Amino acid sequence: MLNLTGKNALVTGIANNRSIAWGIAQQLHKAGANLGITYMPDERGKMETKVAELVQPLNPSLFIPCNVQNDEQIQSTFKTVHDKWGKLDILIHCLAFANKEDLSGDFSQTSRSGFKTALEISTYSLVQLSGAAKPLMTQGGSIVTLTYLGGVRAIPNYNVMGVAKAGLEMSVRYLAAELGPQNIRVNAISAGPIRTLASSAVGGILDMIHHVEQVAPLRRTVTQLEVGNTAAFLCSDLSSGITGQVLYVDAGYEIMGM
Ligand code: NAD
Repeated sequence: MLNLTGKNALVTGIANNRSIAWGIAQQLHKAGANLGITYMPDERGKMETKVAELVQPLNPSLFIPCNVQNDEQIQSTFKTVHDKWGKLDILIHCLAFANKEDLSGDFSQTSRSGFKTALEISTYSLVQLSGAAKPLMTQGGSIVTLTYLGGVRAIPNYNVMGVAKAGLEMSVRYLAAELGPQNIRVNAISAGPIRTLASSAVGGILDMIHHVEQVAPLRRTVTQLEVGNTAAFLCSDLSSGITGQVLYVDAGYEIMGM
């Protein structure tokens, strides 16, 4: 049985009810996990209000601002986890960002600052959050991140985010190798294209979804809740032998050649 009762799960990346992290949070809650939610703060506090309202039915016991470009906020997030929970069992890394102008057109025109921003937020943050989670995962743990096929194949317009995802998938392997002796497992879910705030910045996302609906073995793309189910599995003892892997939740699209 998939049972996460007694597990403390920190979930990053909820922006709205279309977020993949929202699908994951719902399924972790359903499996009995105690949730902590982080959100990306903005100056006017709009995101805080919106996310707080959305997650309220899941009764999170922690609700913390955490911009992954801000070291102090990261430190304070994990200090709160330590002070309030004592131990952490699950970390969901479900965030990414690249400037819109770097998500269409010629990859060779990516700016230095755009490249840095994409890799810092989308890739390095997994390394940094995992490093901060490590001392709190005293009874083992599970770290799950989100990636996309554009990290292993050239997908039109995905551009610098593909490079970020390639780095993310390799970071999963290095983290899994380092943290395995502490019984902390690290895996990635490679999700099929889903309409979200982040994906709408990628040029031609609707065409990508349409293409997947025509070509994928299941003749559709996937939902946030399906990704959430796989995340719950990866966070549970049912997947106790799995680490360092990229698991495709994409209606089978990845196996197709044409
Ligand atoms: P989303 O816009 O709902 O989520 C992206 C999140 O990243 C937001 O909550 C945003 O606040 C957060 N974020 C951005 N910059 C941040 C920062 N500096 N600090 C903290 N948080 C920050 O979109 P999503 O599609 O649910 O994306 C979640 C993850 O899933 C991303 O890693 C994305 O690459 C991945 N993914 C998405 C798809 C898709 O088609 N939607 C497919 C495969 C993988």
